[in-house]
Amino acid sequence: MNANKTLTDLTRDIVNLRDKNKDCIICGKPICPWQESEICHYIKRRHISTTWDLLNVAKGHKSCNQLEESSELLQDSHRMNVLDRIDSVEFMRLNVNKNKTVHLSPSDKLEMIKNYREILKQMKTK
Ligand SMILES: [Zn+2]
Repeated sequence: MNANKTLTDLTRDIVNLRDKNKDCIICGKPICPWQESEICHYIKRRHISTTWDLLNVAKGHKSCNQLEESSELLQDSHRMNVLDRIDSVEFMRLNVNKNKTVHLSPSDKLEMIKNYREILKQMKTK
């Protein structure tokens, strides 16, 4: 089993369920069924410490996610929308964790996978 891939897949499945009826986390506009969407990271994926953090990820337009890196306007909008959805203390925690060096051991990852599977199971039975 590739633990990183499994964690990425589980994160995506959880966010897709959680954000089913939510607007784009980046621009704040509705995501119409015909529009391509994907999981967007507030703190970018190169920061491994926050890559599977459920508060760091949300559903958004694929186009917004691609354009964000070069658009300060979209970056500002993304930050405001994240602040709207999560607690300000959690928001600060994300920003602090961004530059931390995190070494997740194989057993840490297995533990996370177990937890995420349980979350997903509970979300599906609701
Ligand atoms: Zn958007």
